[in-house]
Amino acid sequence: MIPVYYDLHIHTALSPCADDDMTPNDIVGMALFNGLDIIAITDHNTLANAKSVITAAKAAKARFNKELIVLPGIEVSTAEEVHVLCLFKSIEASSDFEAELALNYSKQINRTDIFGDQILYDASDNITGKMERMLIAPTVISFDDLYFMTHKHDGAFVPAHVDRDSFSVISNLGFLPPDLDIKTVEITLRGAEQGYGKRNAEMFPKCKMISSSDAHQLGAISERKHLLLLPERSAEATIDFLH
Ligand SMILES: [Zn+2]
Ligand SMILES: [Zn+2]
Repeated sequence: MIPVYYDLHIHTALSPCADDDMTPNDIVGMALFNGLDIIAITDHNTLANAKSVITAAKAAKARFNKELIVLPGIEVSTAEEVHVLCLFKSIEASSDFEAELALNYSKQINRTDIFGDQILYDASDNITGKMERMLIAPTVISFDDLYFMTHKHDGAFVPAHVDRDSFSVISNLGFLPPDLDIKTVEITLRGAEQGYGKRNAEMFPKCKMISSSDAHQLGAISERKHLLLLPERSAEATIDFLH
């Protein structure tokens, strides 16, 4: 087994409240600078910038001979307003998933005066457009249905920031549904530091626990601190570990 340093919860400038410099190349550069091996792009209710970050990471590999694996993902807000990280092995799998998820997206239009612009970037950090749909609005898919949809596309289903008192499975449902075979939950960096996982182990009896940054600013991207022990450094091994 080899250590794989990760940050599996990063927002681009597409997400409401994310800084405009959360561009594909700046995210890749900061993750490499911090010594990470793998990151996941997890914008709220959209996959739209993930491919540009994956392409930017490939270009960085060619330029600097440093590999950063980028998982495509979406932080889905369920109908119960529970945030879940849905992570995939490939852009193909995540695109198929999003095509199905899109039927559940809110049709509300973004309020830029409140939430800021939702910026689309290409792999060279050029702005290619702004998304009109209000990404902060919850979808209409239930937590349980999202679990099955994610698994259908061979993705990892990771309830996000379970220690937060809003937008988490524990705050909004009260418990982790025992009939779903959820293998991994995410605890905030602060919660992990304060021992939330050990204190609440009985709430997550079958679960691995991971901690990522939920970065909306470049400076918040994780340091080389949290690691997974995997048989190899790859997207496949990471997803297999998580689900
Ligand atoms: Zn969240
Ligand atoms: Zn988030």
